[in-house]
Amino acid sequence: MLLVDRAQVPSDIPHGHFIHRRGPARLAAWGLLDPILETNCPAVTSMTADFGDVPLTGHDPIVDGVPLGVASRCSRLDAVLIEAAIAAGVELRDRFPVVGYTREGDRVTGIVGRDARTGARATERADVVVGADGRRREARAHSRRRRRAPRLTARRSTRRARARHHACDAAG
Ligand SMILES: Cc1cc2nc3c(=O)[nH]c(=O)nc-3n(C[C@H](O)[C@H](O)[C@H](O)COP(=O)(O)OP(=O)(O)OC[C@H]3O[C@@H](n4cnc5c(N)ncnc54)[C@H](O)[C@@H]3O)c2cc1C
Repeated sequence: MLLVDRAQVPSDIPHGHFIHRRGPARLAAWGLLDPILETNCPAVTSMTADFGDVPLTGHDPIVDGVPLGVASRCSRLDAVLIEAAIAAGVELRDRFPVVGYTREGDRVTGIVGRDARTGARATERADVVVGADGRRREARAHSRRRRRAPRLTARRSTRRARARHHACDAAG
């Protein structure tokens, strides 16, 4: 599996990340909660909801050793995630922007990237190409098999813990 990102990895972003809801349990299941806590990132162990009249504070919302949340610096979170991914066999290529895609018919079969350090272009083919390139979603724009989004009857706000990078299974 090849993981590419145009940014340097790990790196910081101008805001923190509060990982909550299912996030801490996921990290614990992957064996990565303790390594993140060990990056000088204390667990969040109390929370106040204040809608104006009566502030409600919960203390020690810890279930099976998993706290309500952690708010790690992005650079430290990335470092822990990347180290685990590399240990699991992933190849990381950072500072490698995707500049195009290869196709067979209406299938995306790979990526074309440019190494920001050397300027060299490279094409990598894969059985599965995952574009997780954020809000602008250039990868999606390159896919010809765009599905029409269902009409929404209500606004929904979700913060999914998605993979933060393009992931490209380049085993083949
Ligand atoms: C101010 C602010 C505060 C937030 N606080 C929180 C919070 O506390 N908790 C929370 O859960 N969420 C928070 N969010 C939301 C959260 O940051 C996003 O939901 C999340 O980062 C989206 O993840 P993503 O992987 O889709 O995109 P991104 O995190 O944007 O990742 C996209 C990645 O793709 C890379 N990329 C883009 N284009 C290319 C290309 N052409 N080639 C190669 N790589 C490319 C980028 O370098 C980047 O690493 C916050 C957002 C903002 C703006």
